Amino acid sequence: MATEDFTNAVLVIHGGAGIITRSQLGDRAPEFHDVLLNALSDGYKAWQAGLSSIEIVVSAVTVLENSPLFNAGRGSVLTHTGGVEMDAALMRGSDLGAGAVTQLTAARNPIHVARHVMDNSPFVMLAGSGADQYVEENDLPTEPQSYFITDARQAQLDQQRTSGTISLSEDNKFGTVGAVAVDVRGDVAAATSTGGMTNKHYGRVGDSPIIGAGTFADNHSCAVSATGHGEYFIRTTCAASIASRIRWGNQSLRDASDSVICDELKVLGGSGGIIALTPDGTAVTTINCSGMYRGVVTESGDVYTAIFEPGSGTWTRFAC
Ligand code: ASP
Repeated sequence: MATEDFTNAVLVIHGGAGIITRSQLGDRAPEFHDVLLNALSDGYKAWQAGLSSIEIVVSAVTVLENSPLFNAGRGSVLTHTGGVEMDAALMRGSDLGAGAVTQLTAARNPIHVARHVMDNSPFVMLAGSGADQYVEENDLPTEPQSYFITDARQAQLDQQRTSGTISLSEDNKFGTVGAVAVDVRGDVAAATSTGGMTNKHYGRVGDSPIIGAGTFADNHSCAVSATGHGEYFIRTTCAASIASRIRWGNQSLRDASDSVICDELKVLGGSGGIIALTPDGTAVTTINCSGMYRGVVTESGDVYTAIFEPGSGTWTRFAC
């Protein structure tokens, strides 16, 4: 079991979980910490400005989607046919408002499209060519495939095509991004964005855009964003299950997260983790694998980022 607990948190983010070893990462850890810090900083500014928890999670996820280091937006992993199919979802805890998109091929920021669907359409989820068409119809920013496809992702696909495997990315690092936040009114929100799995079949959809599986938020319980082998998170309805255990089973955030990630999911063979946050600012990270890119910022601007095992991160403070 691998867990961390925080109090007075306003924003928690992740950049994917998996088997992350220091030797695999080499001297590149600072690059990842920098992007995590930038995402926390943008989200914290939104919190300080009194913006909604949706604004806070979208601010943080936008930074992560724009970085080629993570498996979302720019830097998404590639499908078997060599393109990107991006998924994203977000949810508001105050009224269970939700928006989701899957298999986007051109939107620069999938999380913005999910938000647009939530705010401006009568739907919760749009998929495939219909989702791409929605982007066009609403003049949301797009990019050519060359923007999304990095040399590193192409090399991962080549390697996995050769070995005939489907994985969540090189070295079994997952790379999906997500955020959970609570605003000054005590409303929580969750957001998750991903390119999915390297070498995935055309049309495969993971847990990230599925409300209740990879993304969930309810002011009665908590906000959750997951990362890991999506099929298992769908089968366990991971995020909603954590929330239900709190709301209806009176479990603590810690117990609910551990039960789902370290028992239910692990027994099935599912690997990964979650970040979760309650309206009172109690936050947890839970993984059943060796690492997760992650970060937390508290009300006072104390900021924590980590990659490897729990407790391995460092605290700093934003100037505020
Ligand atoms: N959960 C994502 C998926 O299965 C992958 C990840 O977390 O990196 O699509």
